[in-house]
Amino acid sequence: MRSFIHALPKVELHVHLVGSAGIDTVLELARRHPEAGVPTDRAELERFYIFRDFDHFLKVYWAVQSMLEDRRDIHTLVVGLARSLAAQNAPYAEVTVTPYNHLTDGMPVDELLAGLATGRAEAAALGVELAWCFDIPGEKGLVAARETLAVALQRPDGLVSFGLAGPEEGVGRTQFAPFFDAAVEAGLHSVPHAGETTGPETVWSAVKDLKAERIGHGTSCVRDPALLEHLALKGIPLEVCPTSNVRTRQVASIEAHPVRQMLDSGLVVTLNTDDPPFFGATLEGEYLAVASAVDLTHAEVARLAENAVLASFLPNSRKTQLLDEIAGVLAAV
Ligand SMILES: [Zn+2]
Repeated sequence: MRSFIHALPKVELHVHLVGSAGIDTVLELARRHPEAGVPTDRAELERFYIFRDFDHFLKVYWAVQSMLEDRRDIHTLVVGLARSLAAQNAPYAEVTVTPYNHLTDGMPVDELLAGLATGRAEAAALGVELAWCFDIPGEKGLVAARETLAVALQRPDGLVSFGLAGPEEGVGRTQFAPFFDAAVEAGLHSVPHAGETTGPETVWSAVKDLKAERIGHGTSCVRDPALLEHLALKGIPLEVCPTSNVRTRQVASIEAHPVRQMLDSGLVVTLNTDDPPFFGATLEGEYLAVASAVDLTHAEVARLAENAVLASFLPNSRKTQLLDEIAGVLAAV
């Protein structure tokens, strides 16, 4: 199964750029910015990176964020992610970038966009195509929504979608509707997080108020049969991130994850990593963990890879190419 999963061309649809920073990348950033206080020794950094609890995860996340000053740092981050995807045979990813956090940290918007552009070009040379999702950090409210939309409306190359993340509790989705309307009007796809830490009502709101075309996580949808039916009927895919859900204690274990119920309900399930090195996750690892936890056949695993291709915002010609490759790998089993 491991080599089969490696051979499948995999598409990653839910990974946060800052959260994708692996040890090599952070080591490079830490040595460039020693004043940040992030360990510059590999062994020490590896210890700092071990997941302890959610608060420690946030500490690591913000430590990485604090080292991002200009285009060179963004470039380093993007290329680090691309290398990891290339090593896992993942030729395409839609990567979530949170412009508001970089801007409030003092990075000029042109620096951010320049780093994304040069990083994306180097990723392409490594055989990995990257697209961007610009997302609103919901807890920072309408000012963040306005700024995120303004940067998105500059329509940088590779930008395909508009998102919403951050804590869900107490952060109503409805208030962001006008910003999603404007983003959709401008041709961007709507991909908010919902139902990760709150109930199915947040997923309903994402679908109805934010015109969600895909749902980030959506874990709690299984608690509402009417919602399951709606998501299945409309073919609205879920970006499921099993290890992340275990690490943040939304589910007790991969075995207890509702992914089987989602599949049995006819949902378009895709597997993703969220913040991979922080959670000790890899894209291949997610496939392997789910395959063994819910006992999937090779054909079912291939179906998950197909779902990710179909749920992506790639042009149809490229989708067909990847689907053919997946069929070829399955036929060779
Ligand atoms: Zn996420």
